[in-house]
Amino acid sequence: MTAPLDRSTAWPYDERGEPRAFVYQRYAHPTGAAAERELGALEGGDALLFGSGTSAVTACVFALCAPGATIALAEGAYFGTGVTLAQFAPWGLNVVEYDQTGRPPEEADVVWVEAPANPILTQPDWDAVRAHPGKVVCDATLSTPIHLRPLDEGADVSLHSATKYLTGHHNAMLGATITRDPELRQRLFDVRLRLGLAASPDSAAALLQGLPTLETRVRRQTESATELARRLEGHPAVDRVRYPGVGGLISFDVAGGDARRVETGTVLILNQTSLGGVHSTMESRHRWEGDRIPQGLLRLSVGLEDVDALWADLETALGR
Ligand code: PLP
Repeated sequence: MTAPLDRSTAWPYDERGEPRAFVYQRYAHPTGAAAERELGALEGGDALLFGSGTSAVTACVFALCAPGATIALAEGAYFGTGVTLAQFAPWGLNVVEYDQTGRPPEEADVVWVEAPANPILTQPDWDAVRAHPGKVVCDATLSTPIHLRPLDEGADVSLHSATKYLTGHHNAMLGATITRDPELRQRLFDVRLRLGLAASPDSAAALLQGLPTLETRVRRQTESATELARRLEGHPAVDRVRYPGVGGLISFDVAGGDARRVETGTVLILNQTSLGGVHSTMESRHRWEGDRIPQGLLRLSVGLEDVDALWADLETALGR
């Protein structure tokens, strides 16, 4: 059962003039609350929705970091996360990048991993993360709760760009955090309320629509991505394939570095940004991220199309 979409921004007080469960949309709304219950159940915690993955990142900074705090950020994590965290430099936030396959730097107050990192696709060393005394944020956008429950691994906050797999249809901008610590949940709630980071009812409704098919979509995307990664490995025009074995995201390096020729050569696979939807998408990340990403790297988000049709499209674009 999904809750009806309620776009009200305010609800009437009760007959004694007292607030009911919902008062004003920036605090909470029925569609969001219903979606939070469903998402929280999938990861075994308490979910809060935000207006985007980026606003969930912002909320984590305010909820977890005092001025002058140090965040150890996984190298190769989503480019935009580093750019967002850099906005806090004037307030004394210090960000150090580290290789998440090893130990986080001792001095960090917060360890920020991404499982797997987009688009380099490394996975965090969870033993090393658990041994660290700092708070831990895990961006699990690419794994989804189908492949990872970060709170079970020792994270304090699981974070998602729900714009991607959780809603799954490239039609909603949405972020989420999931926590088990009631105090931390309250801090995130207060930041969301006071900084105006709430999600819209329409985006929450898209999540309610996406979640019932999440497992079917992600399992199929994982199956197709596994097969496409295998075939790409054997292709003479491909130098290197990165695929972590879970999820629908692959990145591969085109031999000679000419990613532009290949990304503009597909028909079924759309040449656009973003990932995690039912339609396959592919783009060069060097364009956005510069020299930290190989010139020839293409990020391919595998959708629900027939795997042989996807391969035929890739083969044509790569050239035999
Ligand atoms: N985290 C990851 C892993 C992402 O890929 C993205 C966006 O691409 C974000 C966070 C930011 O999410 P949003 O675009 O919903 O703000």
